[in-house]
Amino acid sequence: MVATLEHEPRATHDDWPRVRLFGVNMDVLDMSSTLKIIQSWTAAPFDRCRYVVTPNVDHTVLLQDRRDLRDAYHDADLVLADGWPVVAASRIVGKPLPERVAGSDLVPRLLAAGLASQPLRVFLLGAAPGVGEKAARNIHRRYDGVDVVGVHSPPLGFENREEESNRILYLVGQTQPDILVVGLGAPKQELWVHAHRDQLKAKVALCVGATIDFIAGEKSRAPRWLQRLGLEWLHRILSEPRRLAKRYAHDASVFPGIVWREWRDKGLATR
Ligand code: UDP
Repeated sequence: MVATLEHEPRATHDDWPRVRLFGVNMDVLDMSSTLKIIQSWTAAPFDRCRYVVTPNVDHTVLLQDRRDLRDAYHDADLVLADGWPVVAASRIVGKPLPERVAGSDLVPRLLAAGLASQPLRVFLLGAAPGVGEKAARNIHRRYDGVDVVGVHSPPLGFENREEESNRILYLVGQTQPDILVVGLGAPKQELWVHAHRDQLKAKVALCVGATIDFIAGEKSRAPRWLQRLGLEWLHRILSEPRRLAKRYAHDASVFPGIVWREWRDKGLATR
């Protein structure tokens, strides 16, 4: 358990720097500062649903053409670099982010830290049927201070059916979790949370892709040594080649141009 943050003022954007990168504002934070900020939100009484997005190369490519995703990023309470290539690119263009803060690392760290005075209440939204339940069992086994208060796997296409969104809002409203783990894939999860943030009765929503699958053991993270080499993306392609190879090939052809333009425009701006 971490030291109590309950009586400390809640962190706001004024407390840390942001940089403009690839068309969005990104928070200049390392993992430990991020944990403290989110814990200050979960320890305080509910006032509104804050939400966190974690761009990787694929999101960065999507952001160039998708106004709706840029809006969702613009209103996010934290924008953190999920992948090492985004951190490397931030350094190349002279706006260095301190380190990678991947959603799939952030969630286990928050679960391990818990809350000082009461169990941390968590809702798992997304992943295939049965996976959330499996993840919940693993969480209860691994983390003493966590209570999984809800699990829901919305049916495919749920985002186009109002009654399915209402069902999610109802389930979250019934349980009022400290943390809503949203694993619906990008850009669906960011767009859905953005559209429904005012009705969501969770203190913090974390848009974190396949994290529920990782906790359930349905998908495996890259070994640590591969992550340290900045090659987790390679592991993901090899583990789901059919789904990801084409996407990553497209991203690899577009991302260098995005970085180049960012670098060039920064040069012009400072001349
Ligand atoms: N997913 C879901 N509902 C959907 C689409 C996806 O629950 O309508 C889940 C899927 O089961 C998986 C996760 O979203 O658990 C996908 O995460 P990943 O980060 O691999 O997706 P990406 O953002 O790379 O597409």
